[in-house]
Amino acid sequence: MIPAGFEYHRPGDIASAIGILQEHGDEARVIAGGHSLIPMMKLRMAEMGHLVDLQAIDELKGIEVGSDTVTLGAMVTQHELITHDGLASAVPLIREAALQIADPQVRYVGTVGGNVANGDPGNDMPGLMQCLNATFELSGPDGTRSVAARDFYEAAYFTAREDEEILTRISIPVPSSGVGQAYEKQKRKIGDYATAAAAVMVGNGQASVAMTNLADTPVWSESASNALADGDVSGCVAAMLEAIDPVADNRGPVEFKKHVAAVMLRRAIDRAQSRAS
Ligand SMILES: Cc1cc2nc3c(=O)[nH]c(=O)nc-3n(C[C@H](O)[C@H](O)[C@H](O)COP(=O)(O)OP(=O)(O)OC[C@H]3O[C@@H](n4cnc5c(N)ncnc54)[C@H](O)[C@@H]3O)c2cc1C
Repeated sequence: MIPAGFEYHRPGDIASAIGILQEHGDEARVIAGGHSLIPMMKLRMAEMGHLVDLQAIDELKGIEVGSDTVTLGAMVTQHELITHDGLASAVPLIREAALQIADPQVRYVGTVGGNVANGDPGNDMPGLMQCLNATFELSGPDGTRSVAARDFYEAAYFTAREDEEILTRISIPVPSSGVGQAYEKQKRKIGDYATAAAAVMVGNGQASVAMTNLADTPVWSESASNALADGDVSGCVAAMLEAIDPVADNRGPVEFKKHVAAVMLRRAIDRAQSRAS
């Protein structure tokens, strides 16, 4: 399929990009790596008169690793997440999860900002960011605001981001030493989206647990996290099974998905606990 016609914009800074979004309203859409948006355009499930390419905006690039916080520019690619050694040592969970996204061709171009802004329940990064308690920075005509990843997702493809806002950066608290982290993903074949995936952090009397593609939005569960912090693995799995709401589709019926969810979560917990000290 061939996308409908559009006018292409390539602004050099965030303010100009926001100006174009303001000028054209819901006729305009930003494009980052294009690996989710272009397939939708080709299928004519997304049509817009103005496409605003973020590739030339340097302010949206770069990874900063501080002692307390890691900051990712929205245009950081999944490949950069994997190859940045400082990031892998501060938050190893990010490399582990990014390696399970699609294939190298997608990861060279697909961005972390596009992955979390898209609102696709199948994307791996939203659940990961909820597990890590990340914060998203949004810039729009009224200035800049921050939204916790745990409050960002409202329904499939609906988020707290307004149409004229751009997600500019992601801040992640660096987990304290001694915290074990793990990402487990069940997929039908290499390069596939998750049937179920689990992100887990545990250690120092704390825990955080989130799951992917088992509801309209990523699922971070406070009661599952609290149970795991108390060392109650069965309670954690039971609480998460209460929180998810999978639907039957070409990845399987509901009971199968719940079974896979429990297996992924237990595996991730085992591995995270084995890495905690
Ligand atoms: C074959 C294939 C397999 C894949 N498998 C997986 C997988 O297993 N796991 C996974 O997580 N993903 C997977 N993906 C998706 C891939 O990771 C995408 O790259 C990613 O979801 C979107 O990032 P992008 O930079 O390509 O965004 P784009 O496609 O450019 O944009 C996606 C959406 O986000 C919006 N957007 C992008 N950036 C911003 C921003 N900074 N501010 C506001 N809105 C923004 C766009 O307007 C658009 O609506 C797969 C893709 C393909 C083609």
